[in-house]
Amino acid sequence: MAQVLAIANQKGGVGKTTTSVNLACALARLGQRTLLVDLDPQGNATMGSGVDKRTLKASVYQVLIGQARIVDAIVNTEAAGYALLPANRELAGAELDLVDLDARESRLRDALAEVDTRFDVVLIDCPPSLSLLTLNGFCAAQSVIIPMQCEYYALEGLSDLVNTVRKVHANFNPRLSILGLLRVMFDARMALAQQVSRQLEAHFGAKVFTTVVPRNVRLAEAPSHGLPGLLYDPQSKGAQAYLEFGRELMARLAHTGAAAPATPASAT
Ligand code: ADP
Ligand code: MG
Repeated sequence: MAQVLAIANQKGGVGKTTTSVNLACALARLGQRTLLVDLDPQGNATMGSGVDKRTLKASVYQVLIGQARIVDAIVNTEAAGYALLPANRELAGAELDLVDLDARESRLRDALAEVDTRFDVVLIDCPPSLSLLTLNGFCAAQSVIIPMQCEYYALEGLSDLVNTVRKVHANFNPRLSILGLLRVMFDARMALAQQVSRQLEAHFGAKVFTTVVPRNVRLAEAPSHGLPGLLYDPQSKGAQAYLEFGRELMARLAHTGAAAPATPASAT
């Protein structure tokens, strides 16, 4: 069964898409059959994966409203080694279109069930809101990864997000949990960043991933070349951090039993 992970934070510009694209690339590099779902009408994960959002045959929008099958909408990223369920502006209409449909919050989960055996990991790049689209992401996922910048207001938004995950867990998806918080765009020279980082560790303990992604201009440049940072400049500190995060994530998934290969029970 595929591990489905939602990359979420209702704030914009906190590094969700950068994390989604580079983590997808890192996991593919580590041998995982990976699908990246672009669930943001901005289509940044699509463009950042080298797929032109203006010329899609079908997108996640048609899949959600039942006008296309997921297998017909998935495309392969040429260089990056993962599969992509792309998005474009049309997805902005989904909020309204879904309201009249049955099982409106579980449309993505139902679609992903069709390709479950084809992938080891599915990453969902969520939009910057706690909307019906994000709800679809949370209903489809087992875990949530929260990328965050270590700045003053970061902690404030976090409680809303944690509450939303709790509500979805209680009402829609009992499998859902927060896998961890990832510190991104980290600037070690900033005293405030260090301070917020320590607060995060104090509040969330082991939920805070050990890997810290530094602020690195190569990660910001990569999308304009239609490449994940991992391919644009593999030696950059940003790329190396995401590769390291891929390893840490796989270890954590194996530890929680989620991605562990079938092992015989210990003979006692
Ligand atoms: P979100 O998807 O949460 O809106 P993005 O991933 O698009 O956030 O990131 C917002 C902006 O910050 C983008 O311009 C992106 O290139 C840049 N960015 C993200 N992570 C880093 C990083 N580690 N170092 C430098 N720039 C980054
Ligand atoms: Mg984004």
